[in-house]
Amino acid sequence: MDLVIRRAHVRGSPELVDIGIDGGKIEAIRPGIEAHGSREIDAGGGLVAPTFVEPHTHLDKALTADRCPPNRSGLIDEVVVNTTEVARTYTEEDVYTRATTVAGWFVQNGVTHIRTHVDIGPPVGLTGLEGVLAAREALRGVADIQIVAFAQWGIVRSPGTDELLRRAMRRGADIVGANTVAERTQADADRQIDVVFAIAREFDADVDIHCDSTDDPNATSLHYLAARTIELGYHGRVTAGHCCALSSYDPYYAAKVARLVREAGVSIVTMPIKMLYAGIRDPYPKRRGMTRIDDLLEVGVNVCTGQDNILDGFSPCLGRADPLETALLVAYNFSFKRPGDLELVFDMVTTNAARALGLRDYGLAPGRPATLNVLTAPTVQEAIRLQAPRRFVLRNGTMVAETERVERLHAGTAPRS
Ligand SMILES: [Zn+2]
Repeated sequence: MDLVIRRAHVRGSPELVDIGIDGGKIEAIRPGIEAHGSREIDAGGGLVAPTFVEPHTHLDKALTADRCPPNRSGLIDEVVVNTTEVARTYTEEDVYTRATTVAGWFVQNGVTHIRTHVDIGPPVGLTGLEGVLAAREALRGVADIQIVAFAQWGIVRSPGTDELLRRAMRRGADIVGANTVAERTQADADRQIDVVFAIAREFDADVDIHCDSTDDPNATSLHYLAARTIELGYHGRVTAGHCCALSSYDPYYAAKVARLVREAGVSIVTMPIKMLYAGIRDPYPKRRGMTRIDDLLEVGVNVCTGQDNILDGFSPCLGRADPLETALLVAYNFSFKRPGDLELVFDMVTTNAARALGLRDYGLAPGRPATLNVLTAPTVQEAIRLQAPRRFVLRNGTMVAETERVERLHAGTAPRS
């Protein structure tokens, strides 16, 4: 074996185990693996889990907050205007530099699979895509990046975008995406979804839509998206981000939509960092801007959680590309506190997100790629509570990041004797 990780905790097992790695794959998970000259690392009783999966971010926009005028109204509409002006100034080199920087933050935090949306539309053409394609190439061997050709400014409202999306797919984007709230009417939002499916089918690509990113209960795109997914046989190939309007529906309509989403196999991505911060401008009582996570989980929908924006006009002050931070916010906001609840939240940044991204071969098991994190906490609960550093990050058996943290308490209590 090339490498043995000693003294590891794995989910579902109280005893410490060793993890043997050979040829980039996990060979064995059990106590007492013989070394025979293999390299060894000590997990020190820390949790070993598959690397985190980031299901929704925007690498092309990241780190542009300082170029964005301040949002004086506090409304998202003003942010869209401001960020559009910033997007007009992109160059490929500029996007490449920012995308590789932030992708590096993700890897440092134990993420080796990233799905990024990239703005496609008349203000920016394919410039953002070219920069992110170059970043993807540069990071090959470190992280796998899926690119969503994202119609940020809508399709019906933004003539020419449909052809730009097709060009983006030919150029190397993987997934077709759009933004339902960018359209002027609900009928146009439904037409947008039809165009997205048409392009996706042309390229045999999956679909990932920013869907009903609003507190307005009249936004019903998730319902239409689920219905079209079933009609077109796209079961399991569609992801919907945000879906905040679902939280504003009455319980009867919400239950109907949730069941249809389940039937369609649509994955839902909720993004607390963006929406808690920028999404909702309610007077009191204030909503959270997040979808009905608990109700969706209850009916068996695949729910995951992502970062979304990082230091751009939409999230100018917060965001550090860390799925454990996202998980913590989900846990707090949905009062996930019963035994086992934090395991569900951890799934949202690992296995559920992997399912949304269609990752095969994901997970900690013999025969699977040795793509894993060694955390400095023994359990999922402690990893989330302590925001535990990722001591080692391995991808296909190769170490791609490590973090060492030194803490000293000089003024503690007197030692017991
Ligand atoms: Zn987004």
